[in-house]
Amino acid sequence: MTDNTLADKFLRYVGQTSPFAPSLEVDRAEGSWLFSADGTRYLDFISGIAVTNVGHCHPRVTRAVQQQVSRYAHTMVYGEHIQAPQVHLAEKIASVAPAGLDCVYFLTTGAETNDAALKLAVKRTGRRRFVAFRDAYHGDTAGALSCFGSAHFRDQFPGLLADVIFLPFGDSDALSAIDDTIAAILIEPVQGEGGIRVPGPDYLPALRRRCDATGALLIFDEVQTGFGRTGSWFAAQTFGVTPDLITMAKGMGAGYPLAGILAPQELIYHFAAEPAFSHITTFGGHPVSCAAGLAAMEVIEQEDLLENCRAQGEWLLQQAGELPFDHIKDVRGIGLMIGIEMTDAQTARKVIESARARGLIIESNLLNEAVIRLSPPLNISRGECVLAVEHLRAAMEHVQA
Ligand code: PLP
Repeated sequence: MTDNTLADKFLRYVGQTSPFAPSLEVDRAEGSWLFSADGTRYLDFISGIAVTNVGHCHPRVTRAVQQQVSRYAHTMVYGEHIQAPQVHLAEKIASVAPAGLDCVYFLTTGAETNDAALKLAVKRTGRRRFVAFRDAYHGDTAGALSCFGSAHFRDQFPGLLADVIFLPFGDSDALSAIDDTIAAILIEPVQGEGGIRVPGPDYLPALRRRCDATGALLIFDEVQTGFGRTGSWFAAQTFGVTPDLITMAKGMGAGYPLAGILAPQELIYHFAAEPAFSHITTFGGHPVSCAAGLAAMEVIEQEDLLENCRAQGEWLLQQAGELPFDHIKDVRGIGLMIGIEMTDAQTARKVIESARARGLIIESNLLNEAVIRLSPPLNISRGECVLAVEHLRAAMEHVQA
């Protein structure tokens, strides 16, 4: 029988992004757990890639969504009507953000937000060139794609791309390439898809100084690192460096589509002037997503999840470093953003599949498939971490045998 099961129809009617989707049919999800249609339960150690930071269907988030849905969903393109959930969320984000970053321009996806940030930099500086980094990932719209640190993905679309110089991530000596022709530097403070790469403590401060010296704007892409993932609200705070703009998405909406630029109000005002409506969007700051995002921030505060993130992250990092598997090359990370680098991508894939067969969901990274990522929800318990390490160990023993 073909074309009858949901899996058949998924492959037939839903556009695919690769020829090897795992096709796990989700029935429901709760906390750190996914339940598939065949009755199997999985410990979710990737959180939809750093999205469900307070776990699946947290009761407070669900209640906030239900309440908002019953009042209104969409009423007008972003920026026209006063919608309380947007206002409250923007105020809340400003209250925990690095000093000076006090205004949120709402959008819907991470890629779109990076595009908008690049536009803002051009409007502000009058310059048109950018600096990005090798192995960076910022999304797949034209501006974000221009800053994609992989020629393999980028170079098929030359007509669409902006003028970008790529530097090696983490190399302070290379920063001299930034000069006064550069509008902005777009950087992930911790590279995610590049393989969970954490810069040394001096790197981001050196980058800040170079931007100050040349007048280039510093944009931190905190689409993955934001909303607590590195143990602070923003990685900017973890590293003690304040950029000119932060781009946010993923964890911002706690599972609902939401993104935004966080910057000083006078910088964001460039979208409203010369000409007005310089960047507009229909669904930016969707009120239901904003209600979810605000509830999730309250959960992070009230359940002390920044502290939990640091504590469980340190424990996992240490445990991962002690896994007795010959193919582990390196273990690294910060907060609950952890990478276990294998000697090769094939071994990583075998471990990932063996873990899934045991009920643990982990994944590799887009640009470095030899690296297995762990990014569980920030409210993961120690017991769930213990279970994950047991599954990982068993998966590695299976692959070693
Ligand atoms: N920036 C970073 C650092 C990301 O990891 C991603 C997605 O993985 C994006 C941007 C793109 O976000 P979106 O998929 O919402 O466009």
